[in-house]
Amino acid sequence: MIKKVILSQVFLTFIFSLFTKQASAQNNDNALTFKYFGCAGWEISENNTTILIDPYLTRLKLGETSIKISANSSSHPSTSSIDDRKTYKRTDIFESDTVVINKNINKADFILVHHSHYDHLADVPYIAKMTGAKVIGTETTISILKAYGIEDDKLYTVRGGEDYQFDNFSVRIIPGIHSALGDKHYFSSEVYKEGDIKAPLQIKQFIEGRSLMFLIRFKSNEVLTMGSMNFIERELEGLKPDILLAGVNMSRFNMYKYDERLLSVTNFPRIIIPTHWDNFRVPYGFDQSIGVETKIKPFIEKVKDVSPSSRVIIPTHLKAFVVN
Ligand SMILES: [Zn+2]
Repeated sequence: MIKKVILSQVFLTFIFSLFTKQASAQNNDNALTFKYFGCAGWEISENNTTILIDPYLTRLKLGETSIKISANSSSHPSTSSIDDRKTYKRTDIFESDTVVINKNINKADFILVHHSHYDHLADVPYIAKMTGAKVIGTETTISILKAYGIEDDKLYTVRGGEDYQFDNFSVRIIPGIHSALGDKHYFSSEVYKEGDIKAPLQIKQFIEGRSLMFLIRFKSNEVLTMGSMNFIERELEGLKPDILLAGVNMSRFNMYKYDERLLSVTNFPRIIIPTHWDNFRVPYGFDQSIGVETKIKPFIEKVKDVSPSSRVIIPTHLKAFVVN
């Protein structure tokens, strides 16, 4: 009898170790690879599935601002005197830097767009054509893409509230709100419907057109994405993402207890990756240490206080990293 019990235990241990080995191998297969494009732009891949979020790689040298973020903000994106590229005005036609895009993007199955401002959407027409990717976005986003000639069957118009299952992932579309720019005076209710706009667009014609967030459920992990320093708290209640792409630009200080409320309502995610914190008016390779010092480091201190078991990963432009 005793012999029998021991034998069955050995057998069970053997089965269990086989199972865990398989599980860990499977986990590795399903690991997520992240690549930061700057701004709110990401490539996230798992196995053979590649999803881009707000991919903006052109990093236009825009020489004027229309919106004041705050009275004495040192964090406002600004051009650099050693950047010898063309300087654009808001009334200029937007032009994608196809050399930079071709070099850094070779595949995309889906592109998810948080809102339609140029630093989120303006490179998507070129990238969608180049990769054949399907795009999920608001009516404004999709109307702009239709104007650029993207075929209807590649486009998914959403308003927030949808929860879609695709082959290798599912995505819940979450209604959002834009960062409180202009000392909280920013507001835009303008939207485009199909046919309202002709391509190519001027930079200023990339209007917000309402804002979204995305909960992407991969096989290995759930990722909650942000494209702004703002969120509707009740829309996030009950979510438990493994990974949070947290908007950490200065405009979050317009909010009541932004960091605390965000980390708490998302159930203190295991991994937190700051997004939309860089100066996106300078090319790749330019110094971003001001953003790291003034935004990311104070944010990490806050995370240590509020969510001590979370790990914060500081992303570097175009450098891929794996999250298990
Ligand atoms: Zn915006």
